[in-house]
Amino acid sequence: MTADSNASPSGPLSQLPLEHLSEALISSAHLACNVKKIRDLIGKERKIMGVVKANAYGHDAPYIAGCLEKLGVSDFGVANIDEALQLRQTKAICDNSRILAFCSPLDSHIPFYLRHNVTMTVTDFRTMHAAAAAAKAANRLLNVHVKVDTGMGRLGLPPEKAMELLSSIEENDHLQLEGVYTHFAQSTISDDFTRRQTDCFRHLCSEFEHRFRRSVIKHAAGSGAIICQKNAHLDMVRPGIMLYGYPPDSTTTIGPELKPVMQFQAKIIFIKEVAPGTSISYNRTWIAPEKRTIATISAGYADGYHRRLSNRSSVTINGRSYPQAGTVTMDQTMVDLGNASRAAVGDTAVLFGWDGPSAADLADMAGTISYELLCAVSARVTRVFI
Ligand SMILES: *Cc1c(COP(=O)(O)O)cnc(C)c1O
Repeated sequence: MTADSNASPSGPLSQLPLEHLSEALISSAHLACNVKKIRDLIGKERKIMGVVKANAYGHDAPYIAGCLEKLGVSDFGVANIDEALQLRQTKAICDNSRILAFCSPLDSHIPFYLRHNVTMTVTDFRTMHAAAAAAKAANRLLNVHVKVDTGMGRLGLPPEKAMELLSSIEENDHLQLEGVYTHFAQSTISDDFTRRQTDCFRHLCSEFEHRFRRSVIKHAAGSGAIICQKNAHLDMVRPGIMLYGYPPDSTTTIGPELKPVMQFQAKIIFIKEVAPGTSISYNRTWIAPEKRTIATISAGYADGYHRRLSNRSSVTINGRSYPQAGTVTMDQTMVDLGNASRAAVGDTAVLFGWDGPSAADLADMAGTISYELLCAVSARVTRVFI
């Protein structure tokens, strides 16, 4: 067989890059717009901590952190030490940019915070003692932020016990208290509970700052509070979902206009015409009411296209919206193109993003929140940075 007879319509062997069956376009321009909208809301004197946990909500943490740093952000929030190490080891950001890991560490993790200059969250006395001992043994100063539980019920001591913890850290030679923070249980409504969370936290911080005659970085607001709790902006805000272009929930309509940073799309790999009565996919949940054209697209729940979307969502192909048809499968999803479609194999179907339905719309259809759909876009989906 000659090389020539191997030539395919799409080009000679191994000359072309592999076309992606599914991909997530990541727009740095949209990210920049969203950062500007956040800055407009909080004013110049406050800092932004870019929350890039969970691989930057599926957007690729090293890439997003690097973009944010170019936009002037030098504080980053991650879930844990693993995620912090990924940022340090990929050299995604400057060595002196701060990375705060939100979770409370295991004792065995503490040396890694010291070695890689990661700011640790202290939630209680036990962790504080372990951290102080590890820092002393390493002859290093460990930067810490204390997490106070004002009502979230997840991590931290209640405000009435937190003062003693703050004082102990302040008096310890191996721990450097840089910040104090808390987290809201429900930030998009302004009820008594949320107001009490803010008041308790502010009171605790000013008591500390008064007693020790110095200031610490005080922070409380995620996206919900950035939009809805202006008196909780304090010294720094911690936006996550807003960076990625979505409001914190579907009831919040007062926020700025944001742009989705991710577009999740997949190729049409098969098209067929079906007779009335033909069933599509597992469990035969969709039956053609008349003659229809059905496209099979190359993404399923293993790519992060939620199975709960089955028979509920729509996809956009060449600017037109088509209903999804039948159960979403692991690797493929079917779409009802109607009876006069101009779509072809190789065309792109937008699952969500700026040219299709939004992740927030899909989240409503699936009974979840945009956060979950963004985080679910799996490693199999190639991220394409534009
Ligand atoms: C995830 C998280 C945030 C960001 O929340 P968004 O609602 O996405 O803005 C902020 N702070 C902490 C502690 C978090 O865990």
